[in-house]
Amino acid sequence: MKKWVVFLDSGDTLVDETTQEFDERGIVLRARLIPGALELLKALRREGIPVAMVADGQAESFRNVYRGLGLESYFAQRIYSSDVGAEKPSPLMFETALRAMGLTEADKDRIVMMGNHVRKDIAGANRFGITSVLLDWSRRYPTVPETPDETPDYIVHTPLELLRVLSLPREE
Ligand SMILES: [Mg+2]
Repeated sequence: MKKWVVFLDSGDTLVDETTQEFDERGIVLRARLIPGALELLKALRREGIPVAMVADGQAESFRNVYRGLGLESYFAQRIYSSDVGAEKPSPLMFETALRAMGLTEADKDRIVMMGNHVRKDIAGANRFGITSVLLDWSRRYPTVPETPDETPDYIVHTPLELLRVLSLPREE
């Protein structure tokens, strides 16, 4: 079986954006997970699959949210656009994650990116040459592909369905 590495988006992939609470500067103070997100993170940890967060937004927001949820330890690396200076679909975001995870070009065939946004997560992953998985749990952002680049390799409706894509068991 492939030794997968998983890249995960945050907003509406792990965290429910409708639950975000902001301060006066627009920094997210706290937010809640979408159903199944915690179970996914636990399952990936149980299976020994390294996970990187690859997310657009302010590092401070993500630190608040994931520290508040007690989930920072689930990510081997966290790549934020505010640190990188570019947003998805920029290859810089994915390249930064690749290198931070200690991976190379040769590892691309075992990396999967799951996100909710076809123009950012899916087009970015496809152009970078890694497997793309669209999570269409939320319809807040474009989830209908308009170009071949935006067409995901797989579509899932809940976070845990990623395990099926990776051919992993679901049970505890
Ligand atoms: Mg998102």
